[in-house]
Amino acid sequence: MNDPLSELPPLRESLATHGLLAKKSFGQHFLLDLNITRKIARLAAVGADDHVLEVGPGPGGLTRALLETGARVTAVEKDERFRPLLEELSGVCPALALVFGDALQVNETALAQGEPAHLVSNLPYNVGTPLLIKWLTGPWTPASLTLMFQKEVADRIVAGPGDDAYGRLAVIVQATCHAQRVMDVPARAFTPPPKVDSAVVRLVPRPDRPSAEALKSLERVTAAAFGQRRKMLRSSLKVLGGESLITAAGLDPQARAETIDLAGFLRLADQLRG
Ligand code: SAM
Repeated sequence: MNDPLSELPPLRESLATHGLLAKKSFGQHFLLDLNITRKIARLAAVGADDHVLEVGPGPGGLTRALLETGARVTAVEKDERFRPLLEELSGVCPALALVFGDALQVNETALAQGEPAHLVSNLPYNVGTPLLIKWLTGPWTPASLTLMFQKEVADRIVAGPGDDAYGRLAVIVQATCHAQRVMDVPARAFTPPPKVDSAVVRLVPRPDRPSAEALKSLERVTAAAFGQRRKMLRSSLKVLGGESLITAAGLDPQARAETIDLAGFLRLADQLRG
């Protein structure tokens, strides 16, 4: 445990001192219970020697828990109102570096400074999925990702063939990472509570993740197949090559997207590139 952190005022007091109220437009729902933020830090399995990128530190509850592990944290916050509060935290804890800006625009390779870095975030709901796609398909590969999503998005990430939530997101995530849902968090744990429950998902990039080019093909195939998920593949994939593409991938043209597993989609993407 790091001493300066234990001397900090409670999070609610920090918010009140700085006159900060949650803003809906920034997807702000804060975790002020250190038992929950410490559990997320444990699930992230980070510690001394690790570099963590945290998106959206807000009042800094999760940031404090991450710093307690001994990790160095680079935190990217879009809402400038949090600057004084977060600078107080970085003032007592030099292991925290602050970046004020939009996480959708930042260059993670530059922030990671050539080292592996772990992403940990209680994500703003409004940009959670675009951020995830950026981290999984962009030029920078995180060492691991421990991310809080609304429950419905967590379901879509870990779903398998035949599940209602199975779709493009599951295929892209599971092609690039081993994905596990590791914690459910009820809406009442947040201040203010959102309308829906949340869940933490832990993703570990696969050593055999597809190349950028293969991922592009996978995105095209899954967009077409799940764009018309109730139709047979021979109809939904007509524009990409129809029956000949599907049979070359060893699949049944009469099958529907929701029944095709990851390996099947990867073969379709291969055929599309071929
Ligand atoms: N980590 C804090 C916690 O757990 O209490 C706050 C989490 S809150 C759900 C999401 C945070 O992300 C807010 O602080 C919000 O201002 C910030 N945020 C929203 N959009 C952002 C973006 N595009 N880039 C960086 N931060 C963003």
